[in-house]
Amino acid sequence: MAQTRNVALEAQKVHQASPVAAAALGRLLTSAALLSADFKNAARIRIEVDGDGPIGRMVAEARSGGKLRSMIKNPQVSLPLRSDGKLAVGRAVGQNGLFKVTREEYDDAIYQGQVELVSSEIGQDLAQYYTLSEQIPSAVALGVLVGRDSWVQASGGLVVQALPGSGEYIGAVADRFSTLNHISHRLAEGDSVELLAEEVLSMGSLRWFDPEPLFYQCECNRTRSLEILSSLPREEIEELIKDQGVEVVCHYCHATYQFAPTEMEQLLDRAAD
Ligand SMILES: [Zn+2]
Repeated sequence: MAQTRNVALEAQKVHQASPVAAAALGRLLTSAALLSADFKNAARIRIEVDGDGPIGRMVAEARSGGKLRSMIKNPQVSLPLRSDGKLAVGRAVGQNGLFKVTREEYDDAIYQGQVELVSSEIGQDLAQYYTLSEQIPSAVALGVLVGRDSWVQASGGLVVQALPGSGEYIGAVADRFSTLNHISHRLAEGDSVELLAEEVLSMGSLRWFDPEPLFYQCECNRTRSLEILSSLPREEIEELIKDQGVEVVCHYCHATYQFAPTEMEQLLDRAAD
């Protein structure tokens, strides 16, 4: 389970995202948080979604210590609500794309898996990823509520996974998720994810693990930005020197880093060495 209101709100502020884009980002960040709870050996989990909808490419990343960040191509997308009054996340993300997960482990091993987008509402896509790519039959419920003031008011999600041999139970759980009725509204009303889990599982006593905090936090800095520049071809660096230096903008947090021509020349000197 993940309660991600603060993370989703921070993502919305960082990207100045419209309600539907904020909901898409919140759901994807929640998915990354849920996946990272599954893969304790992963130093980084990255989910990339690239449907053909107006939002464009979207990425959410979870790093160890509960640190999350995201990027989105077109955060200002605005679409009419669906007929059931919900934000049209699926339409904003679009179809004909992939839900791609990359897992970097502490020993630098990298694992990748991907599935075709199912509904592009993110929750179903994550369930499909678990079931097909990780071979774990799973039921997923994700929700982000955006208030009348256009800001994220609640965000969170639950995933229930079947142990080997109990796959048929997952269908029943998924059915109960559908009766859970707007997880985001329940969270906004102050119900905890623990309460929702008890409702869905209804198995009497559950054993709870200690919660771990989640943060929206980037990892960019000046040194990393310079490393990215140093990977450019020599001619391009020479062009940037002629242009009186360069400004690097982080797609995840919009921080800017400026590099003077002298610093660029040092890059070329180092490359020559
Ligand atoms: Zn950044």
